[in-house]
This record gives sequence, structure tokens and C-alpha cells, in this order.
Amino acid sequence: MVVGTSLAVLLNAAASLYARATAPRTPPVIHVAAPSPPGGAARDAALDDLVAAYPQALAGHRAGTLLWRSGPPTPIGTARRDAEAAVATPAIADIFAWPYPLGEEIPAPLGDPGRARPAAFFTRLYGDCAKGEVEPQLVDVRWVGGRSLRFTRVAGAAEALEAVARDLETLGPAFDRYLWPTSGTYNCRAIAGTASKSMHAYGAAIDLAARFGAYWRWGPRPAAARAIPWPIIAAFERHGFIWGGKWAHFDSFHFEYRPELIRAARRKAGHAD
Ligand SMILES: [Zn+2]
Repeated sequence: MVVGTSLAVLLNAAASLYARATAPRTPPVIHVAAPSPPGGAARDAALDDLVAAYPQALAGHRAGTLLWRSGPPTPIGTARRDAEAAVATPAIADIFAWPYPLGEEIPAPLGDPGRARPAAFFTRLYGDCAKGEVEPQLVDVRWVGGRSLRFTRVAGAAEALEAVARDLETLGPAFDRYLWPTSGTYNCRAIAGTASKSMHAYGAAIDLAARFGAYWRWGPRPAAARAIPWPIIAAFERHGFIWGGKWAHFDSFHFEYRPELIRAARRKAGHAD
């Protein structure tokens, strides 16, 4: 079994390297739906979702600022209508630039829900990995098959991933090839071509097996609607994670902990929490 696992890890790493090495030097131009940030009462409701999703850290929002349980308030800012600006230099208001589409259907045109990750919110919440603030928060999470992964314990992220793993465990061995070896969780890096931090830099994202990864920089969107089976995606969404396969800038083996977006999507769909 040890030999089998090592071989799988090796093949996974090779698949990942191959995809990167053969990627075009100039990234393709991707069409993204214009942001449709909520305004008025809908904006207040979205900010309520944000506060409710991170109750350990946030105390509320008032007069255009986000109130933390400790430390000074943060300006929420104004949401942009320009997709590139919303992702490249996001304000807190840009978190809700695009609604996250819950469920098996992926509606067109595609937006980039979740790709706006304002440092003013996420670095304050999870810490700055470049300053060594994220690693002390990483804990071992029990993953499928008794394996373990490092994930941040901040904001209930590790507990949420453990709940995902419990659900995935019930799917049976046919799904194992998607779930192991993973392509990593914590990684202190910026997103290629931007100054923004990836959720991996906060220890709050996971990439599944590389051979099921399709990434917008590496090549065209796969003809199949998705490379990852729906029951896996459903397990993540159930526990506050969004899937990168629903982005115009697709990243099909990537999941990140974004309970505020899942919460907002459930509210709009009329689901009780
Ligand atoms: Zn990822």
C-alpha cells in the first residue's frame, strides 16, 4: 500500500508539473460577466451574511464600516462594476461582486464569485503568511481514508473541512481517486499574475487530485461540464466551501472556505440556514 500511495503522489505531482510546463505563456482572455453587487437593502443583507458567517471575528457593520470584535473598524468601500478591478484591488464590498450559484447547474454567463478577496478582510482575519502569522493557526484535519491535511482553525475553517471529509467518506472508494493525493492546502503565495493572495496563503483552500484539475491559464475549459463529480462539490458547498469550477476563470480542482457566499446564496434561494 505504501508503494501504491507513493506512486500516486508521484503521478499527481507529475500531472501538475506537466500542466504548468505546457501552459501558454500569454494567458488567454476570459470573458467574465459584469459584477452585479447588491445595493441598498440587499447590500445590508449581504453584509449581515458576512457578519453571521464569521461570528468569532465580526461584531457587525455600521455606516459603511465593518466592526470587528477587537481592533478598529474597516471601511467596506464601494463595489466596482468592472470585473478586473473587483478582483485585482478588491474592497470589502466587492466580496459580493457576483452571486455564487449553488447547486449542480452552472448558469451562464459565468462570473467570478469569490475571486475578489480583499486583504483588508482576509489578511486581518487569517493573518499574513509572509509574516509567519498563518502557520501557527494550522491544525491537522482528518481527511478521507484516515489521512490528514493542514488547514487553518481560524473562523471554523478546519471544522468545516472535517465535516466535508465525513460526508465524502460516505461516498465510497470509487471517489477516492479525486480525493487523494490532494494537490495541497496551505501555500504562502500570491495568485499568478496578481498581487492578491490566494486562499491557500491563508490555509483555507484545498486542491484535489491534479489530474482532475483544469485551470484557465493552462488551457481551455474542458468539454465536460465538470471534471469533479457533483456529490463531491455538494459536500463542499454544504459546509461553506465554494468550487473554482464555477468561475469564468475556472480552477476545477480548487475549493475554498467562503461561508459568507454560501450563506448569501442560501438566503436568496429561500433556504433556512
Ligand atoms: Zn487552489
